[in-house]
Amino acid sequence: MPLLPVPPTVSSTHRLALDPIATPERLLLGPGPSNAHPTVLQALARMPIGHLDPLYIELMGEVQELLRYAWQTDNRLTIPMSGTGSAAMEATLANTIEPGDKVLVAVMGYFGQRLVDMAGRYRADVVTIERPWGEAFDLAELEAALITHKPAILAMVHAETSTGVCQPMDGIGDLCRRHDCLLLLDTVTSLGAVPLYIDAWKVDLAYSCSQKGLSCPPGLGPFTMGPRAEAKLAARSGKVPNWYLDVSLLNKYWGSDRVYHHTAPVNMNFGMREALRLLAEEGLEAAWARHRSNAERLWAGLERLGLELHVSEPLRLPTLTTVRIPEGVDGKAFSRHLLDRFGIEVGGGLGDLAGKVWRIGLMGYNSTPENVDRLLDLFASELP
Ligand code: PLP
Repeated sequence: MPLLPVPPTVSSTHRLALDPIATPERLLLGPGPSNAHPTVLQALARMPIGHLDPLYIELMGEVQELLRYAWQTDNRLTIPMSGTGSAAMEATLANTIEPGDKVLVAVMGYFGQRLVDMAGRYRADVVTIERPWGEAFDLAELEAALITHKPAILAMVHAETSTGVCQPMDGIGDLCRRHDCLLLLDTVTSLGAVPLYIDAWKVDLAYSCSQKGLSCPPGLGPFTMGPRAEAKLAARSGKVPNWYLDVSLLNKYWGSDRVYHHTAPVNMNFGMREALRLLAEEGLEAAWARHRSNAERLWAGLERLGLELHVSEPLRLPTLTTVRIPEGVDGKAFSRHLLDRFGIEVGGGLGDLAGKVWRIGLMGYNSTPENVDRLLDLFASELP
């Protein structure tokens, strides 16, 4: 009789004995994630259904259609990427860049720099123009750069979460058409909260996230691609160098064939459907106006307290406000105090603005006058 092999003994080295998860109440007034809407959380908690179930296929169509509404686009290829905003960001670049393509990135903050890094990894010939952190680009400098560099793609950020600047978009799409390049726009901190018109602005590629203006937890990255970008994808000489984010494969699942690509995160899409349903119920104009008026309430209150806002009024982003940390105040210690004592999260500065500003987010479900007043009261009573 041959001896049966002895299985290895099971080690308990990594076997933690934990209580079920319990998270504290937090009011997330930083750069994101923002608090999720309660009915979005209910949608997320539903039992999963199959990702090829006819009911799920119907839900996919609803999510696509509502994303088109949120973005004001008729783009056929409008889908939530399974992943965070960075996955959708990478999808825009991976699908359209061919090695050696010139990509011009207009950098005015941290997320512009991320576009530079990602485009380079897809072997684009990346060139940049830059503005100091807190400013935006004007048409003349964009046109001069398009003439000098003749890029295949101009990539830029609509709502720079690192600086609190909203890039004015009038005329940029026309410039790109005139100079025969695609316009790629980061709308992570604007979708659902700040006026945004993908088709009217002639934007060819855009991406966003679930966790800010849409009041959903992080986990999905809305993505949209217009006909000019689709034509560039169709004309590629080689495969898209990223299997997971290849839109030509993904479209076989999201389009009419319904062929398995990857197992869709079905519950995240339940949450996304509910978040977009709430946005459609409120109406874009009302949602944009709510974000604007709560931001103005915050700006006025902070200035009344003698604090200085980093961005000039016309460029200020309603979803994210950068406030200069006053001389002699430890900005990190103050944010920590708000979190520990009151359960309120406020962000610190990133990159060039590290240690210089706080970043206050009023996004989606959290954009209310009550939240603004609560925070202003705490700035008044707690700031040393
Ligand atoms: N772009 C901008 C403007 C952002 O603010 C963020 C995240 O905050 C991203 C891209 C990346 O998104 P995510 O962190 O969801 O991957």
